[in-house]
Amino acid sequence: MRTRIKPHHIVVALGVAIALFTALSGIVAGVAGFHSDSPITREVFGNIPAPLKVAFYTVIPALLVYGAVLFAHRVKNWQRGRPDNRRTTLHNAKHRMADFRAGVYMRTLLREPGAGVMHSLIYFSFLILLGVTTTLEVDHQLPDGLKFLHGDVYRAYSAVGDAAGLVFVAGMVWAILRRFGPPAWRPYRIRIKTSAEHAVIAGVLLAIGVTGFGAEAFRIAADGLPDHERWSFIGYPLATLVDGSGAVAGWHQAWWVAHVIAFMAFLVILPTTMLRHMFTSPLNMYLSHRDRPKGAMRPMPDLVEGDTELETFGASVVEDFSWKQLLDTDACTMCGRCTSVCPAHATGKPLDPREIVLKTGEVMARTGSPPTSPPLGTGEAEVQVPANWMFERISNEELWACTSCRACDEICPVNIEILDKILDMRRYLTLMESDFPSELGQAFRGMENSSNPWSMSQTERADWARDLDGVRVIAGGDPLDAEYLYWVGCAGSFDDKNKKVARAMALLMERAGIDFAILGPAENCTGDSARRSGNEYLFQMLASANISTLNSMGVRKIVTQCPHCFNTLANEYPQLGGHYEVVHHSQLLDALVAEGRLDLEGATLEERVVYHDSCYLGRHNDVYLAPRRVLGALGGIDLVEAPRNGTKGMCCGAGGARMWMEETIGTKVNDERSRELLDTGASRIATACPFCYIMMDDGVRAAGVEEDSVQVADIALHVLEAVEARDSAARAGD
Ligand code: SF4
Ligand code: SF4
Repeated sequence: MRTRIKPHHIVVALGVAIALFTALSGIVAGVAGFHSDSPITREVFGNIPAPLKVAFYTVIPALLVYGAVLFAHRVKNWQRGRPDNRRTTLHNAKHRMADFRAGVYMRTLLREPGAGVMHSLIYFSFLILLGVTTTLEVDHQLPDGLKFLHGDVYRAYSAVGDAAGLVFVAGMVWAILRRFGPPAWRPYRIRIKTSAEHAVIAGVLLAIGVTGFGAEAFRIAADGLPDHERWSFIGYPLATLVDGSGAVAGWHQAWWVAHVIAFMAFLVILPTTMLRHMFTSPLNMYLSHRDRPKGAMRPMPDLVEGDTELETFGASVVEDFSWKQLLDTDACTMCGRCTSVCPAHATGKPLDPREIVLKTGEVMARTGSPPTSPPLGTGEAEVQVPANWMFERISNEELWACTSCRACDEICPVNIEILDKILDMRRYLTLMESDFPSELGQAFRGMENSSNPWSMSQTERADWARDLDGVRVIAGGDPLDAEYLYWVGCAGSFDDKNKKVARAMALLMERAGIDFAILGPAENCTGDSARRSGNEYLFQMLASANISTLNSMGVRKIVTQCPHCFNTLANEYPQLGGHYEVVHHSQLLDALVAEGRLDLEGATLEERVVYHDSCYLGRHNDVYLAPRRVLGALGGIDLVEAPRNGTKGMCCGAGGARMWMEETIGTKVNDERSRELLDTGASRIATACPFCYIMMDDGVRAAGVEEDSVQVADIALHVLEAVEARDSAARAGD
């Protein structure tokens, strides 16, 4: 039987090739004995005894092979995962390279300047130092006539090497102070996740830098302080300090040995500690581009028709994740940026997205064949993983605390897909174990029996529009003869606050001359909450019914004011055969204002307004500016921003089906967010999502602020109010 070459074989082959090359370079240099006659250079391995040279060229290749084998074991672990199409094609190659460059150039890390600059100092200088050492080795191999490292080239080379070394040591000192310094210097996310492994890594890296300078200083002193070495602007002054201290040649050998040992220690810890992210993070970033939109969950087989041979759904063991989800766990830098933005974590829930990644990695590592070191090794020996079972390490409470806000995925500097893991495990709990918070059962029953989580009668869906002559209700199945289908959503149809939004939107569309119709009783819940609470079966049931209605009507364009419906219709229905051009009401209003079809001339709102970003409009779909532009088009408005806005906006707490669950642990997410919005001094809070509207209004009232002080409302309501006030003022003036 032919053995297929697998990725872990390639890793071993690469390691062996590099090790052979290193060993051969030592043999060639030793046998050939090439030597430069230039007085302005240095002798490679000068003053180093032959046995030490032999040790150098044998131990380092051995460690390279050892590292490759250990790394291959990790790759073997990723291979346990399910398929995930991350192929490089002509279509996505550009994206992949852009993501890769962002990783290699540290662009994503620089989003947070402190940590980004510190990492850049260490990383880029380390690469330069690696280049400096390689250049010396290449020059070492060349015949006399081809050697280039002499004269001015050598002087410049010396200066570059010392500059890189200085920056490297400075970066390491900064990193050590940031991790182990006084509490005020250590960000929360670092304070709560510092282990002995971090100390080992920092110690080894700092030792490489310091011993490098030590060896250089004694080498220059041993060579008699040649003038051209002044270009080593750190090594030379140090050499003048140690010159005359006696036995400088012996000290040079000692520092050289220490430097080589530090480098060997680096090779040992590279595959076994989180330092592995030097390789895995850029790889993970290269592979991050996927065919699926950001807002879409991973597709599942058809559960309604039972068209699958799968016996288990969702993720409960390592093999249930995709190989890319497993690679993620080895690419995590443990920076905790995801922790710092998680609304559940910030409000005292038992969820920390970093821990979800690390715990998944722990189960993978401990159950590998052979087992590998866990993501954060040293100091975590007490962590027990008795079986290949995710729920040994991850509790249901962690998973159900997630609001699916996507803040963690968005901020992760190495593009780890955390939310997918949480939602896949929820799928297992719901589909295989029927293990979900009891309150969800009521929402499921509502969606199943009444086609909406409010359990209201479908016949009442269009009641909000009863007194609006311009709103046409079209029966499901009839051909749609209007330009837009206005998808009102369950909240817009049944929730009192949001019925006002539907009404406002209908009136604004009428004013702008938009030809639209609604489905009324033929509209079902899109199934967003069902899917995000793991109930894929219910989601597919609702989605199939909707898609069948929409397709039979020939629907092409849909407008909706609900970002959850927007996301599901636009990004998830294509997985089931529903392809529509979907716009959010903020986008439509924005376009209508820009085209002059919605006349906001003279419509003013003398208010200080803060806009609260909806996660499903913002981070899941990158719509940030349209709602702000719509509000900004009103006269008199003072539009302010909350400290957390845009990509870093804070969730209202209702996403991921949290709308239908009790929030009994910690502070309420909506209370915290509302306080932040109130602190801006705004007299109005604008939302663009029915859930956000409900949650922010509740939060503001819970803070004891009455509606006449701070009004919370959807952007359509603010706009309509300003337009109607303008029109009545005009009528009064007539
Ligand atoms: S999606 Fe939001 S709530 Fe869920 S883990 Fe990530 S940051 Fe936390
Ligand atoms: S998942 Fe990403 S953001 Fe979170 S700790 Fe790991 S690397 Fe940092």
